[in-house]
Amino acid sequence: MSDLSVSENVSLRSFSTFRTGGPAKYFAEPSNEDELTQAFAFAREKGLEVFVLGNGSNCLISDNGFNGLVIRIGKQMGQISSEEGPDGLTYVTAGAGCLLSRFGNFCADLGLEGAEFACGIPGTVGGAVFMNAGAYGREIKDIAVSVRYWEDGEIKEISASECGFAYRTSIFDRKNANGSNAVILSLKAAMPKGDREKILAYCEELRQKRTASQPLDVPSAGSTFKRPEDHFAAKLIEDSGLKGFALDDSGAQVSPKHAGFVVNNNGTAKAEDILKLIDYISGKVYEDSGVRLEKEVRLIGEFGGKR
Ligand SMILES: Cc1cc2nc3c(=O)[nH]c(=O)nc-3n(C[C@H](O)[C@H](O)[C@H](O)COP(=O)(O)OP(=O)(O)OC[C@H]3O[C@@H](n4cnc5c(N)ncnc54)[C@H](O)[C@@H]3O)c2cc1C
Repeated sequence: MSDLSVSENVSLRSFSTFRTGGPAKYFAEPSNEDELTQAFAFAREKGLEVFVLGNGSNCLISDNGFNGLVIRIGKQMGQISSEEGPDGLTYVTAGAGCLLSRFGNFCADLGLEGAEFACGIPGTVGGAVFMNAGAYGREIKDIAVSVRYWEDGEIKEISASECGFAYRTSIFDRKNANGSNAVILSLKAAMPKGDREKILAYCEELRQKRTASQPLDVPSAGSTFKRPEDHFAAKLIEDSGLKGFALDDSGAQVSPKHAGFVVNNNGTAKAEDILKLIDYISGKVYEDSGVRLEKEVRLIGEFGGKR
């Protein structure tokens, strides 16, 4: 049995695509399920709150950091493999720490149809299951067969229909909100074979679409808000005259390229600056349109009681 290494006082900034975040009191990156169990035992012994981090691409981490144990599910828990099923479908199993882009490319390379949307999303498979990530009309729930996860020392597997997938949420999100520490270990997905060249070309087309429309060269956490029913967040923000808007010179700005993204120019803004802008946008959009925007970005750590 390998031994988990736990570090103290680790800056979370480089573990968040928004490039904000103070230190984690304790930080561990388990390389297997045994080490994950050890991490929770460590937290229990010390009475620490736990936060499970993937690639940090949907998180705004507090300037005060996280006063507990951050368990990062990284590439050591990101093995990927495939097998042919008797039903003609190919089953791909990817560890939670596998990058979603790697998962998408792996499927495309095998000529599998349905995971092209994943190629340009900068999260992990675990984060994507938690969020039911999606793009261009497809999401994780469309290809998921089952999910393995760790909960209170037990390993469980549930079918996709039990995962409670809905728009940018899953049962794991709800478990987390109810104080459970469920950790996604792997996703099993099934896809039919298609025309490999066409699939690879489609992945490339989606990547180019993203590059053309999104500020991928500036720190952000993707879409700041969920899509409100019957509306598009970016359109509402633009209609409120906020495309390119900044409250101050902190670096926090509504992207001039895509109003749905708040960006952290040069990585100079603090999490508080970004949250202040997010709150301002919500207030102004509500005032102008009557639509309440709900944050897609998750707040991690203390923000004066806000979540
Ligand atoms: C430039 C850019 C573009 C983006 N485009 C899209 C897009 O097109 N579509 C889309 O849906 N999203 C998009 N996102 C948002 C983000 O990439 C996705 O939400 C992604 O799925 C988050 O994965 P992550 O590993 O980074 O999760 P994190 O940000 O690390 O975590 C998100 C949540 O998932 C939980 N979590 C993560 N891993 C696990 C695990 N193994 N077990 C239990 N809980 C876990 C965390 O606790 C947290 O609550 C974009 C982000 C950026 C920066």
